Amino acid sequence: MNPSSACHDPIDLGLTWRNTFARLGEDFYTRVSAQPLPEPYWVAHSAPLAQELGLDPLGFNSDRSLQAFTGNRPITGTEPLASVYSGHQFGSWAGQLGDGRALLLGQTAGGLELQLKGAGLTPYSRMGDGRAVLRSSVREFLCSEAMHGLHIPTTRALCVTGSDAPVYRETTETAAVLTRLAPSFVRFGHFEHFSARARVEQLRTLADHVIEHHYPQCRTAEAFAGNPYAALLQAVGERTAHLLAQWQAIGFCHGVMNTDNMSVLGLTIDYGPFQFLDAYEPGHVCNHSDTQGRYAFNRQPQVAYWNLFCLAQALLPLIEEQDLAIAALEPFKTTFAQQLERRMSAKLGLSGSTGDAQRALIEDILQLLAQGHVDYTIFWRRLSHSVADATPTAARDMFPDPAGFDAWWLRYQQRLAGESRKDAAQAMLGANPKFVLRNHLAELAIRAAREKDFSQVSRLLTVLEAPFDEHPEHAALADFPPDWAHHIEISCSS
Ligand code: AMP
Ligand code: MG
Repeated sequence: MNPSSACHDPIDLGLTWRNTFARLGEDFYTRVSAQPLPEPYWVAHSAPLAQELGLDPLGFNSDRSLQAFTGNRPITGTEPLASVYSGHQFGSWAGQLGDGRALLLGQTAGGLELQLKGAGLTPYSRMGDGRAVLRSSVREFLCSEAMHGLHIPTTRALCVTGSDAPVYRETTETAAVLTRLAPSFVRFGHFEHFSARARVEQLRTLADHVIEHHYPQCRTAEAFAGNPYAALLQAVGERTAHLLAQWQAIGFCHGVMNTDNMSVLGLTIDYGPFQFLDAYEPGHVCNHSDTQGRYAFNRQPQVAYWNLFCLAQALLPLIEEQDLAIAALEPFKTTFAQQLERRMSAKLGLSGSTGDAQRALIEDILQLLAQGHVDYTIFWRRLSHSVADATPTAARDMFPDPAGFDAWWLRYQQRLAGESRKDAAQAMLGANPKFVLRNHLAELAIRAAREKDFSQVSRLLTVLEAPFDEHPEHAALADFPPDWAHHIEISCSS
């Protein structure tokens, strides 16, 4: 065997692979091999996720897995492919998009699919280079695991490898490959793709695939007037409503809610210019390229509904009756409202009954936070401690004009009188995280990573994996953002 063929020998990671997406047929994807990157190095990995997959967490030190997860050597049992999808971007039909830089390897333990993001050109790369930069890969890696730590549905991230190969964005950056996982990477845009081309057979194959593997309950006769495709639309709407309620309650701004970035499993997917709110500003726009503010924080639920409407239109050839499609969309609104109220009540330590008084309590504190530009995450954490100590000083001090807060606190105390204060405080500390991935924290970790110091990425990962714990030794990561954080500009460029 000569040395060059040895470089193409597959590496056996000891995983068992099933490739159900590949079985759908070549209308759905193109087979593509990853393109190697020179002299790769490790940036980060998630030990718990490696363990979950049955990979030896220590094995990440090995050169074999470094080559495998950079895409430099194929992995035994995988069938790399780039899937095709279309979508609406910023409200307009964008036509064909597809995996321009992500390769689906197949499906392994626990039914999780693996993708290499940034592994080179595909037939869907359009004007792009098929690469991802270190900056955006570190952001996606940390935020995926942060969302998981917050119990918010998300694609997961196993590892990031880097290479000094130059990648050209606004400035010259360097390449990285992110390995990400999800039960499925199917997006609303996959359905839109076949529907727009009137390829009803493929549309049905895709819908049947998603139902079989992810929504089997939609097949039963009772589900939505016996129409499995209407039932699917409703189920996707319900999951999206749960997701959006969680985003709004935690203060997460996605930044690019195009239909090709919407998971049919209701997962947070495609981390780009996302941001966790610093000060509570309902109209905050985190994506510097979003000049119209289409994806402002407080517009996200509406946008999700708009995106579901696109999915409904795409599924119409299968659902057949327009009234049924409209009826299947309807529950999104009520589910979202109920879920948001539930999540916000949990932030206040209030369980059980809701009602007008409770709703007013939520609305009023949000209004006070907005008026005072109060830091969202720190406020809720301090409020949790205030309930435990029965002294609101630390939360109160955050308001430029505390009189409004004082009046609210009195009403809140009356409402809490019916609950066990200890239980409420405990529940609040489990609903209001101490740590979120603020822009400036990601930025500092990226700056160090560019200098090959990956310790800040792993330190952040430690707190973000368990964001409700105190981690007193990392208290600085729970601090207010510095002034320069307001000037960080995050665009679509990644
Ligand atoms: P995004 O805005 O990241 O959701 O990407 C939108 C579309 O552009 C998707 O089809 C991506 O695969 C594609 N894309 C984004 N960046 C690149 C890149 N650097 N190379 C190739 N395709 C890309
Ligand atoms: Mg995308």
